[in-house]
Amino acid sequence: MVIGFILVVGLAIGAVTYFTTRSTRSKFGDFLGAREVENLRKLAVVLSAYRAENAGWSGVQRILARASEVDTDERLLLVNAKGTVVGDSKDKLIGRSVNLGSHDQEMTLNINGRQVGRLIVKKKGENPLAQEFLESVNKSAVIGGLIAGAIAIIIAVFYSKRIVEPIRAITGAAKDIEEGNLGKQVGVESKDEIGELSQSFNEMSSQLEKQEEVRENMVSDVAHELRTPITNLKGYTEAMKEGLIEPDEEMVESIHQEVLLLSRLVDDLQDLSLADAGKLELNKQDISLEDIVVHVTNSYQKRAEDKKIRLSTETISSPMVAADPQRIDQVLRNLIENALKQTEEEGHITVTLKEEANSAKVTVEDDGKGIAKEDLPHIFERFYKVDESRENEGTGLGLTLAKQIIEAHGGEIEVESVEGEGSQFSFTIPFDE
Ligand code: ADP
Repeated sequence: MVIGFILVVGLAIGAVTYFTTRSTRSKFGDFLGAREVENLRKLAVVLSAYRAENAGWSGVQRILARASEVDTDERLLLVNAKGTVVGDSKDKLIGRSVNLGSHDQEMTLNINGRQVGRLIVKKKGENPLAQEFLESVNKSAVIGGLIAGAIAIIIAVFYSKRIVEPIRAITGAAKDIEEGNLGKQVGVESKDEIGELSQSFNEMSSQLEKQEEVRENMVSDVAHELRTPITNLKGYTEAMKEGLIEPDEEMVESIHQEVLLLSRLVDDLQDLSLADAGKLELNKQDISLEDIVVHVTNSYQKRAEDKKIRLSTETISSPMVAADPQRIDQVLRNLIENALKQTEEEGHITVTLKEEANSAKVTVEDDGKGIAKEDLPHIFERFYKVDESRENEGTGLGLTLAKQIIEAHGGEIEVESVEGEGSQFSFTIPFDE
């Protein structure tokens, strides 16, 4: 990255320096050239006038010597119409003829359209002042280029460090995660895209850790829940095998209850795993919640009567909702069964159906044991049972599943309860928009 940056900057600075000096050299050359031609023209006018006045070139040497004092690097030669040198600022070539060099300049001298001679400027090379000026321009351009290049390299190193270091940190953390060290966090706090990437990475890592924890807990919870009914079954069957107890009706019923619990546990677990994976299929239909409430409540009347509990319904309205009737039936059964379990003889359970602004609401209220404040926040967690000693009854998954089912319908489930006074569970199913 740094190398790429340096190449680009170097190329840019090199190009700017090259074209700047080139253009300066050419423009400065033009400027000097124009000035020299102007001076030469003036001298040519003076010499032509001299020739017109004197009808010959004798004595012109004095003028050339003067003129060459202005620029000591130049040698001025005056050649007559025949090509013989008649004036030389260095006073050496008089009477000879001259050849023009590559740097030389020449101007013809005319009187009334007739050529009377030529003025020649012989140069040793490039003007030293001009050379000095151009060298200083070149030097400045090179120094400027070097300073700019150095600054560019410092900036490149600084920025590449800022980009590369967090990426290295993220790569290292990703490797840690690959090795099973979940939850690894990277400490990049910048507010730019790299910061956002780090934040997303940290969130992903935490999620992975949480998921792994949930998975581990789930496996140990399932093993724990399966152990009780299986231990009971093992005890019953071993005792029967060894002839310690007779397989009478009561024993068979106990075994049947354990098997039913196991089967319920497996069914609930399957539904729960589908819901967790977001694959709980809802067979949504337009249904009357009143029909479900009445039908389910009626099916529990016998059990309520046996326990001398008054189970009643109150349907304030009769809304139609788009929902899976079997799943809603399952949720309501769970709530009524829980209420029946937790309510003493002579107690009351009321199932209410009413309409709210955007949803239908079903409430199951009992005046049973209620739930302690400390248990209330955990009531929807998987395998959470208030009374662990209770056997052969619940799986601790009923409310967890109910919550998943209601939320899959876009509704909400909630609980209000006071220990010793009773509980109120309610869920909503939103109306279609
Ligand atoms: P379970 O299958 O054990 O009933 P749930 O998830 O349905 O599992 O309920 C979890 C726990 O919540 C139950 O063990 C019970 O102690 C408590 N609970 C549920 N409903 C009520 C209620 N109406 N009154 C008091 N406690 C309740």
